[in-house]
Amino acid sequence: MAAGQLTGRDPAADYRRDRRRLVERLRDGGVSDLAVLHAFDSVPRHAFVPEVMRARAYEDVPLPIGRRQTISSPTIHALSLEYAEIRPGHRVLEVGTGAGFQTALLAALGAVVYSIERIAPLYETAARTLGRLGVEARLMHGDGSLGWPKYAPFRAIIVGAAAARPPEALFNQLADGGRLIVPVGTRRQELRRYTRRGDDFARETITGARFVPLIEDEPKGEGPR
Ligand code: SAH
Repeated sequence: MAAGQLTGRDPAADYRRDRRRLVERLRDGGVSDLAVLHAFDSVPRHAFVPEVMRARAYEDVPLPIGRRQTISSPTIHALSLEYAEIRPGHRVLEVGTGAGFQTALLAALGAVVYSIERIAPLYETAARTLGRLGVEARLMHGDGSLGWPKYAPFRAIIVGAAAARPPEALFNQLADGGRLIVPVGTRRQELRRYTRRGDDFARETITGARFVPLIEDEPKGEGPR
């Protein structure tokens, strides 16, 4: 017997209604990019969180996904995607696949998605979830702070974990006019956007933030940024 038959509730309908509410909340909170709002309406966030967290899947909060990692809040994902200015066909690198939720949002936006996850079990779970939902994305288990030179340059790079300084390799793998969205800082963090113009990188602060730390295997050459 399906759970809904006992309670008289249809979980799928509940999720749809909760999802709709979340989209309204994001819009009221200032997210104006219709494609981003539409992506949130089409991707089932509950499919990316552990079963015990499902009831909270459409709250605007980060949730634990195991291995001391979290799926970012919907607002943070929405801002990242809005500032990245993703358009259909853009080649996009995501650093920190996590549960794969943002990966699915990127695919819903029509991006050609490349995503790297450092922690093997998370990579495997995300690959399974995305596969089950039929989301097309190229995934890799590895250190995303090195970027993915084979597929560079990227129109956008979105980093889901914070470092004291953004990894230099990511700047180098950004296309001209491309955008790097990256949280910077240790205790106090800010989410930044860098826009490439030739060899120049214009820097803006999007919002204050609290991301999990970027796992860097060894010290990398870092620039003055
Ligand atoms: N946006 C994701 C959540 C990101 S959480 C989602 O929708 O679920 C940040 C993720 O970055 C974690 O899964 C963490 O394991 C991963 N991470 C940390 N350092 C990394 C690195 N150097 N390379 C790739 N992934 C990394």
